[in-house]
Amino acid sequence: MHSPRLIPVPALADNYIWLLANGNQCLIVDPGEAPPVLAALRRESLTPTTILLTHHHPDHIAGVGGILAACPGLSVIAPHDERIATATRRVADGERVQIDAPRADFEVIEIPGHTRSHIAFFGAGVVFAGDTLFSVGCGRMFEGTPPVMLASLDRLAQLPGETLLCCGHEYTLANCAFALSVDAGNADLQRRSEQARALRARGEPTVPVALALEHATNPFLRVDAPALIDTCTKALGAAAAQDRVARFAWLRREKDSFRA
Ligand SMILES: [Zn+2]
Repeated sequence: MHSPRLIPVPALADNYIWLLANGNQCLIVDPGEAPPVLAALRRESLTPTTILLTHHHPDHIAGVGGILAACPGLSVIAPHDERIATATRRVADGERVQIDAPRADFEVIEIPGHTRSHIAFFGAGVVFAGDTLFSVGCGRMFEGTPPVMLASLDRLAQLPGETLLCCGHEYTLANCAFALSVDAGNADLQRRSEQARALRARGEPTVPVALALEHATNPFLRVDAPALIDTCTKALGAAAAQDRVARFAWLRREKDSFRA
């Protein structure tokens, strides 16, 4: 018996395409381009069976055509969104995705905000969260409002702490710089920042990462933490800072304009 293996495949500028492999079979998550995936399949002697897509952005789906041309007949599982033309099956909140090879069982979680139809796949000890939750950060709200995005982050935050977060981009160092600007006294965050710096200096990914560490370090999961309430109170005033959506909205706006 083999145990499942997670392989982050760097792609484009700072994307990760994820492979989940067991034995010589694998599934592919969010292929923004085909060549690095096809190279990884050859290198690891893997045969893909399934492609999972979290949202319609080209840097997550543009490689599907090239992969299907090389490996015909794969299932392509995607949210209900006509902007993803290659889907063979569309899934909604609460649906189960059972894959025979590699054997894996996922629950679909709708997490709108970055885009209106964004979904996550939770199963096999991991969550493929696309561009909604990053390590020490969260996605931009292209098609959603702060209450919608915060509700989506809250849902991901409820998953078990040992769940490994597999996100769509290597943004951790920049996210740590922002997080330290609003949560400076957080020792876990300071350690995570140092660890991420060391990993990147060796050319290694900072993800996957356990959700428990995100609870301790990610300001967008810490809108109810005293340190973040404090920061927001200084910026917004005590009355406005009582509202957790207002705190989240302010943090997200600050991150949009933050330059380290
Ligand atoms: Zn995106």
